[in-house]
Amino acid sequence: MAVMVVLFLVCLAVTAAHRKDTKESPVLSGQPVEHQAILMGTVVTEKLYGGDSQVISGIENAISHLEQTISWRLADSVIAGINASGSAVLTEDMYLWMTEALALAENTSGAFDPTLRPLIALWGIEEASPTVPGDKSIKESLSLVGYEKLSFEDRKLTLQEGMCLDFGAIGKGIALDVIADYLEESGVSAATIAVGGSVLTYGDKPGGDWQIAVRDPDGPDGSALGILSISGTHYISTSGDYEKYFEENGVKYHHIFDPGTGYPAKSGLRSVTVVCDSGLKSDGLSTACFVLGYEASLPVLQEYGAQAVFILEDGSVRTTEGLEAYFSIIK
Ligand code: AMP
Ligand code: MG
Repeated sequence: MAVMVVLFLVCLAVTAAHRKDTKESPVLSGQPVEHQAILMGTVVTEKLYGGDSQVISGIENAISHLEQTISWRLADSVIAGINASGSAVLTEDMYLWMTEALALAENTSGAFDPTLRPLIALWGIEEASPTVPGDKSIKESLSLVGYEKLSFEDRKLTLQEGMCLDFGAIGKGIALDVIADYLEESGVSAATIAVGGSVLTYGDKPGGDWQIAVRDPDGPDGSALGILSISGTHYISTSGDYEKYFEENGVKYHHIFDPGTGYPAKSGLRSVTVVCDSGLKSDGLSTACFVLGYEASLPVLQEYGAQAVFILEDGSVRTTEGLEAYFSIIK
């Protein structure tokens, strides 16, 4: 009897823990299955219409597997291996991502540069106590940066001595591409997946449009300045100066660097939100556009068939033409 009571209590506890983790209240009530996890060093939020906890595990396994490939942080990742050895014959996936990344670097005149790691490491922006480096150190680290210095022939990538790859500006977008491929096979009809500041809207939301918040750069975490109301599958990435920063002598230094100067980009923007048909591109473009500024971003966005919302330093908001009808300011 005692054993049965214990078993009953354990069952209750397991059910409660499961409920806390995954709300199984699916399609019948029109509510999505929801789950949150910390992956790739950020918050991942999944809302699935027509999925279950198995699909959630599948999504999270796919992200973890991706992290093992593209995170420079993990000593045994594929990218860490390339950085350590200086060359590699790339696998199919890495080849495609590297090709897209180099095209993006070229099309943005290096505003996005996948070889920026030495400069990012020098600033220590991901570390516990970053400091402003001296001009000389910045120049030295920039001598190890430059996508055009890579040799990339057939599938073989070779870095020059001291160079390192960093997919930090496209990794969350790549995660969305991988997740979208997984969702195609999973039977989920509609979903939103947010990996940090990058969001995938997948399929059509039952009973209405997707409402995607564009963050208020001056507000607290989660506060919205505007809402994008869209239907269908889109990739939406935001780069903003409020995401990661530190202050020294009263000056704020954020995490999006201008590869031309070696300092945090000053292009008159607080944030850029890019909407397009690929996660890698929306993520890479949002970083690049933040560096380029409003005017210089427009031809690049056009080339990629992408739309964007810009929040400028003076608080004004600009959207590209194709997004005007879908964005409303709520602040
Ligand atoms: P995101 O938040 O997508 O704009 O990416 C910012 C992250 O990408 C930073 O934390 C850096 O690791 C890296 N990064 C910063 N500036 C650049 C840049 N200009 N090109 C490529 N990567 C960058
Ligand atoms: Mg980015």
